[in-house]
Amino acid sequence: MPRHSSRIELSLSALRKNIKFLRSQIGEEVQIASVVKANAYGHGIEQFVPMIEKCGIHYFAVASSYEADEVFQVATKESHIVIMGILYPEDLEWVIENQIEFYVFDYERLVLVRDVAQKMGQQAIIHLEVETGANRTGLPPEDFTKSIKLLRENQEHLRFKGLCTHLAGAETLANNFRISKQIVRYQEYLKKLKKLNHQPEIRHIASSAGAMSIPEARFDMVRIGISQYGQWPGPDIYHLYMAQHPAVKKNPLSQMITWKTDVNHVKEVQRGEFIGYGLAYEATRNMRLAVIPLGYSNGYGRSLSNNGYVLIHGKKAPICGLVNMNLFMVDITHLRNVKVGDEVVLIGRQNNNKIEISSFSEFSRYLNAELVSRLPAAIPREVVK
Ligand SMILES: *Cc1c(COP(=O)(O)O)cnc(C)c1O
Repeated sequence: MPRHSSRIELSLSALRKNIKFLRSQIGEEVQIASVVKANAYGHGIEQFVPMIEKCGIHYFAVASSYEADEVFQVATKESHIVIMGILYPEDLEWVIENQIEFYVFDYERLVLVRDVAQKMGQQAIIHLEVETGANRTGLPPEDFTKSIKLLRENQEHLRFKGLCTHLAGAETLANNFRISKQIVRYQEYLKKLKKLNHQPEIRHIASSAGAMSIPEARFDMVRIGISQYGQWPGPDIYHLYMAQHPAVKKNPLSQMITWKTDVNHVKEVQRGEFIGYGLAYEATRNMRLAVIPLGYSNGYGRSLSNNGYVLIHGKKAPICGLVNMNLFMVDITHLRNVKVGDEVVLIGRQNNNKIEISSFSEFSRYLNAELVSRLPAAIPREVVK
């Protein structure tokens, strides 16, 4: 097989450590749903799902029926899948038939699901997503009572698996006033359920940030995305944790992804020459450059132009000029004997140096999750120890 221009390695031991740490945070009682939307945040559903099943997690959350199918193809039979986002009416029969769970956030959809499940003689597994103030998807409050009645009266065809909502930015402590209000509103729904005499099997509202920093948001299940991959949901949550645990000296989460390529070409550039397109970078001294064979079409964002760096021989090599569609240049004047074919690390460790995903948010406006979730599915992924 002809080779791709880069490759990704996924560390099973880093993932195990992350899950162990998350467990120590949230306790043994709370169930973990692993959020694997966006191709497992770019890590690769095909590789990641079996890896985390090995860590004892068998619940997966995705954003669409397309992604549900990707997980369905590789997960073991004992695993559950829940679709949190778009589910086209044409896919309803497929999800019901395969016992794939899904969010419902409007009353008409609930009626449609009941009708389809009835026609099939089967039971659909529903998570009712209520509006608590995020104002994305979420059932309007005025439709709550009639939705619960519909669920209660059609139990043969509608299984009330979950009552859920999504917190609007628990990663930032300044949002606390909004988040606490959401939790109060959610608890009001739970009270109403008692009166309506119909209970969900599980209650879940927290993603990584809520799960890690707000104990009362954990309920029966948490939906963990970014932190299982070894990234903190944001600096606030990291610093809060470190401040509350002064004995902990080292970041307890480990990045599990390494992204590598190879030097494609080496060249000398004379002082006064420009590098790459336009006038973005002028050599102010005689320089040696390495050409790196990938660019923005491979998920290495253009905002890293003249910014950011890669690792070669364990040392930083800064980007010179614009990141092009499929290549960019780095300065290797300070490195000895760099040759075509030498390993280049874009994300992860090389010798004693490491590029953290979170460092990209310093050179560009990338969020932790944004850079990795854009890594193209075509890059080969390999599981390592
Ligand atoms: C993406 C997502 C999550 C996971 O969020 P992280 O911050 O990555 O843990 C949880 N719930 C919903 C509804 C999501 O869309």
